[in-house]
Amino acid sequence: MKNEQLKNRDLKVLWHPCTQMKDHETLPLIPIKKAHGVYLEDFEGNKYIDAISSWWVNMFGHTNKYINDKIKEQLDTLEHVILAGFTHEQVVLLSERLVRLTPKGLDKCFYSDNGSSAVEVALKMSYHAHLNDGNGDKNIFVSLKNSYHGETIGALSVGDVELYKDTYKPLLLQTIQTAVPKDMSVKSAKDAALKFEELCREKASEISAIILEPLIQGAGYMHMYHPKFLVLIREICTKYNVHLIADEVMVGFGRTGKLFACEVANITPDFIVLSKGLTGGYLPLSVVLTSDEIYAKFYCDYNEHKAFLHSHSYTGNALACAAANATLDIFQNDNIIEKNKKIAKYMGEKLEKFTELKNVAEIRQTGMVCVVELKGYNPKDRIGLKVYQHCLKNGVLIRPLGHVVYFMPPYIITNEEIDKVMDTAYEAIRNI
Ligand SMILES: *Cc1c(COP(=O)(O)O)cnc(C)c1O
Repeated sequence: MKNEQLKNRDLKVLWHPCTQMKDHETLPLIPIKKAHGVYLEDFEGNKYIDAISSWWVNMFGHTNKYINDKIKEQLDTLEHVILAGFTHEQVVLLSERLVRLTPKGLDKCFYSDNGSSAVEVALKMSYHAHLNDGNGDKNIFVSLKNSYHGETIGALSVGDVELYKDTYKPLLLQTIQTAVPKDMSVKSAKDAALKFEELCREKASEISAIILEPLIQGAGYMHMYHPKFLVLIREICTKYNVHLIADEVMVGFGRTGKLFACEVANITPDFIVLSKGLTGGYLPLSVVLTSDEIYAKFYCDYNEHKAFLHSHSYTGNALACAAANATLDIFQNDNIIEKNKKIAKYMGEKLEKFTELKNVAEIRQTGMVCVVELKGYNPKDRIGLKVYQHCLKNGVLIRPLGHVVYFMPPYIITNEEIDKVMDTAYEAIRNI
């Protein structure tokens, strides 16, 4: 009964993200009572495997004992303190670790509390760094076609997914979208990089930065490309004095097979943006790391007016930093990146089977992200929704992006649970 009550009370007072609320006249909300490991549980005892890591944030399962204990410990010590003029142990420790773990040359951490606001931080810092260099003309941002960087006004401006962007176009910054490699081949990577180089040749004096999602465009239908693209873009950026902003909000923390996707291409961006997995999926926190060289451009006497005066109330929240430190402990102590190779291999083998289905256009995989792209449907068919509903009925939470079904589970998932998830999705796709 509690399920029903909560649904009704919810719809009287809540407005949910990324939702046409009228859908809930026919599509029931699912109140979750509790969660543990990969399982969510409702008030009637139904369980669902969280195969999308609760919107790509969860790393080591829900109510993870280790992370829980660390947050509880922190809760009784220091919950939060202003980060201007003050500091605390968790944020210092976390920053030391991030500097050590991210690609060499990223030396300073600037905190915020969600992916979108961290993207805004990186954009502003990039522009401001050029300005402090006496280069005030660099006020255009470039991003890739089909990219997603969040939904605040600035972040939306550099995104390119119509669904989120079109309505707000009149409000947005002018930006330029350059080609994304059309598939995972080296040739496509080279072709797309050439387009960016042409753009730089023409306009680099006005371009502050290019922002991109390394290797996988998440909300852009899990489009994937070859690491060679990142290598080429890095070279072009250096040549034309354009910053490279790597938005690793989704791909960071092991999703692509390395701790950070930039490592796959062995590049160092000028800014890296991290959030989602940073706290293991527990608390909102994000961070932008940049180089000592860029940091130095802002470092001078106060009256020279070059400081980066950006601020968020919850910057560097102590509970969130404790969760992040606990998450990094697990990566370190449990050798997660190595273990993930086995999980990714197993998922990859299971993925092959989907090619037997005649409504499957393509399968693809990068590390811990597996994708089944469907074909032969009109967007009006809302085919993803049908797959979603079938899976839910059978105890699996996946949330297709349109016609693209993907699997992005927490790293503690077992082979049996992977079987359950992928077999259920297979049935759903076969039956539609
Ligand atoms: C989710 C996401 C964001 C936005 O993060 P929020 O915390 O949802 O604001 C930005 N960039 C990428 C690549 C993302 O996947």
